[in-house]
Formats: sequence, C-alpha cells, structure tokens
Amino acid sequence: MTPNKEDYLKAIYKLGGMEILVNNKQIAEELQIAPASVTEMLGKLKREELIHYEPYKGSCLTQKGVEVAIFLVRGHRLWEVFLMRHLGYSWSEAHEDAELLEHITPSRLASRLDKFLNYPAYCPHGSAIPQPDGQISHASLQPLILLPVNTISHIRRVAEEKELLDYLQASGISIGSQVQIIEAGTYEGPLTLDLDGKQVQISYKAAAQIYVDETQRP
Ligand SMILES: [Zn+2]
Repeated sequence: MTPNKEDYLKAIYKLGGMEILVNNKQIAEELQIAPASVTEMLGKLKREELIHYEPYKGSCLTQKGVEVAIFLVRGHRLWEVFLMRHLGYSWSEAHEDAELLEHITPSRLASRLDKFLNYPAYCPHGSAIPQPDGQISHASLQPLILLPVNTISHIRRVAEEKELLDYLQASGISIGSQVQIIEAGTYEGPLTLDLDGKQVQISYKAAAQIYVDETQRP
C-alpha cells in the first residue's frame, strides 16, 4: 500500500515543515518509499494548496496543510491513549492501529474521545497531543545518548517505530522513569542504565531514539 496524501502531510509536519523546507529525500526516508515517487505526489499537494513546493529545495506546509497535519496527529495520539488505556494494547500495537484510525476520525469523534479520556496532554509514547486549535507544547528534551554518565534524568518520549517500540517495551523502558547511564560502551557500544533502580542494558541505536529531560550543564 502506498502512503496517501495525508501521510505525506504528516511526514512533512514531523520533519519540521511548519517552519523549514523539507527535501524530497527526507520525505522518502520518513515514508520508506523511493524518492522518485515523492515528486509526483508533491505536485498534487501543491496544486491543492496544501504545500509550498520549490523544485530542488523542498517543501513546507501551507496554513491549510498545517491544519490537516495537526488534525491527523491529534487523532493519532488520542487513539493511542484510548487503545492502551482501555483495550490493553502494547506500545507498538497502539501506534500501528492509530495509523489507520487517524484517517477516519471526524472532528466530532476526536473531541468526544478527548473528553472521554479526560483531555490527555501526551500520547503513551510521550509526544504532546495538539489542542484542537493546533497549539502544541514543546518541552526541552535531549537524546539519552547525550546524557552525561551518572547524571539523573527522566524519560519523556520515545520515537514511534514498530521494532523500536517492541524492543524498548521488552527492555522495560517507560515514560516517566528515572534514568541514569551507569556505563557507556566505547564506539557506540551498548549502554548500561539504572532505570528506576533496576539495571538494564540497551543498544546505542535505541538509546539515540529515547528522549530525556535536558540536564543543567555543570
Ligand atoms: Zn504515540
């Protein structure tokens, strides 16, 4: 199945396309498709005034495009909360099914869901849920790999990708946990963490996709 228009808008949004020009290669990577197929779709989105597209430079979202993207992201994250809280979904299962549900969620349903869940601020993976007017809170986070050894911080967000989510959940990583790097292997070797008082080892690659509170420089 090829990604549809809405997935393109969401990809451009996630890559920063509200403020900056995002190039075709980045979009292709985000959607895991060949760069050649991106160009055609961007032409369509431009004709529908959902993006500004500058050949050889990249694209960014128009106001109309931003609204569509935020609406999708909001629906996605609300569904994830619902699926985990009420249907016993795992991290990756919630993300997978929310990818489908986000495309068929009218605004009435999204706002009822929001109310039913008591207006959650974050999805289960720690990403902020945009307000109906598009407002979204941005915390100052840093990747776990940049946390100095023996410095205490807290896990706030993880990247949303199926294999990564399964790996992290199996390793006992959860949002809000207190974390400290005890030992970092050389040459991007595995990290030994103190996670809420328990010792856990995770790969460097996974740690690069876990975000923690920024710590004060000594
Ligand atoms: Zn999520």
